[in-house]
Formats: sequence, C-alpha cells, structure tokens
Amino acid sequence: MGKLALAIHGGAGTILRSQMTPDLEAEYRSGLESALRAGWEILEKGGSSLDAVEAAVVSLEDFPLFNAGRGSVFTHDGRQEMDASIMDGRNLKAGAVAAVRNIKNPIKLARLVMERTEHILLSGDGAADLAASAGVETAPDEYFFTEHRWLQYQEALAAGRVQLDHSKPIGTVGAVACDANGNLAAATSTGGMTNKKFGRVGDTPLIGAGTYADDTCAVSCTGHGEYFILGVSAFDVAARMRYKGLSLEDAARETIEHQSQIGGEGGLIAVDSKGNITLPFNSEGMYRGYVNNRGMNTGIYSD
Ligand code: ASP
Repeated sequence: MGKLALAIHGGAGTILRSQMTPDLEAEYRSGLESALRAGWEILEKGGSSLDAVEAAVVSLEDFPLFNAGRGSVFTHDGRQEMDASIMDGRNLKAGAVAAVRNIKNPIKLARLVMERTEHILLSGDGAADLAASAGVETAPDEYFFTEHRWLQYQEALAAGRVQLDHSKPIGTVGAVACDANGNLAAATSTGGMTNKKFGRVGDTPLIGAGTYADDTCAVSCTGHGEYFILGVSAFDVAARMRYKGLSLEDAARETIEHQSQIGGEGGLIAVDSKGNITLPFNSEGMYRGYVNNRGMNTGIYSD
C-alpha cells in the first residue's frame, strides 16, 4: 500500500524575491493550493493517481499566471500552441498532444489519446480532429490571451530571441501522485517557449523526457525543454532507481545534477510508491507544492 502523496509544479526559472510583490506571491500560492486541493480530494476519496494528476493539472491550466492552457506564451507568429502528456504508471499507458490550439485543457486531450486511440502522441490538426470527434471543450483565442504573456512576446520579438523567460517567472505545469494502492501517475502541460518557431515542440509531450511514470516513480519536468529531451530526464530518474538501486531523492538529485552538467536549467517533481516526494531544481526558483497526510506545503524560491 502506498502512502497518499501529490506534488505539483508551475514552472522553474529565475524567480526573484525582488521582482515579486506580496500580492502576486499570494496569487501564485493560491493557484498552487487550489491545484493541490483538486488532486488531494480525489486521492483522499480513494480515487486513482491518474485522476488526481489530471485534476491538479486542469486547475493549473485554468489559472492564468501559469504557462499552460489559459495564459500560455505566444509563438513567433503570435499564436498559442500547447503541449501536454499524461502517463499511468500502473500499466505504462501514456497519451500526449503537441502544438494544439484552442483546446481549453490540453491534458484532457492527452488522456483521450491514451484511452481512445492506439497511439501515444498526436500533433496539430490530427489532435484537433480527435478533440472535435470526442467533443473536447475548446475556447477562442481571447480565452488564452493574457497581457503579461503578450508583453513578454513583444519583448522577445523586439530582441529577436526565443525566450525561455529566464528573466521572468516561466511556465509549464505538472503533477505527480501516489494513490492508496501505491499506483503512480504523472502529467505535464505547457505553452512552451515564448517566440518559439517552426512548430517547435519541447520535452513536455515526450514520454521519458518531460513526463514518466512506472512502478518505481512518477516524474514531471520543467525547464529548458531541449536539455530535458537530451537528458531523457523523466525516465532518467526511474532508471537510476531501478538500475542503481537509488532512493527517489538521490535519483532525482542526480538527474538534476546531470542537467547542470549538460547546460540545462530547470527542475522536476517526483513521487515513489511509498509516498516519498522530492522536488529538486537548479534554477533560481520553481513554483511548487505538495500534499500528503502530514499537510500541504508550497514554495517558490530556492531558499
Ligand atoms: N519545458 C518546457 C518546454 O521547453 C518549458 C518550461 O518548463 O518552462 O517547452
């Protein structure tokens, strides 16, 4: 039997106290707490880790300050293209979508890919066709628009850079959970990088890179996606546990150390089937939180 555990993140990057107002910090923390409550309610009632991570990510996607769903960053063409993935550690099933537009909750569509198709990753128009045939909720461009993302996009365009938002809070949201049966699940959702071009897809929808769950652990990553793809970082945590016999904490720490070695910046959240939780990162900060039978906790900065 596992001990109930849920962890979430709302992105990692340069998050400085000096750039944060008390009101904004309170808003971020309330966004994190709502997501933790949404997932915890399910776990407490005996629900599955899969349902819990989906509910937590839906809550984070709906919260406009995080870079996923509503509030996603803009591409070079001034559009919002979102990536998401979900994995059920109980049976190694997974579903993912890349570069989808106007889907209110991309994580729900990722789950549909897992449950209703024989595929794992659908992109663009094909993913939109599945959404239409399954009656997935869509929303107009205005729903996804937020002023702060538009300003970031204008800055990045003017400077001519693809921006992971290192000078500002960045995005991607994720959740990992262990349910009463010790089953694990992970989910991750993002708008990607500001000013991204050519249909760029990051680590978030790639099983093994941004998201992974089996019977050793469940992992969701955030940070500079190209490096998390190179490090196959979500799977790397599971591999270090399985092949090296490491604890969850040691495995996840080594994975982030490897990110530092190859030049990647970011973090991850992970749980194992005993309900252990770890949330390491090598960036200035990471929006994060966890809840277990001992209570709820949220954090933003590195200290
Ligand atoms: N990993 C995401 C990506 O590269 C971005 C992030 O986590 O902030 O698309």
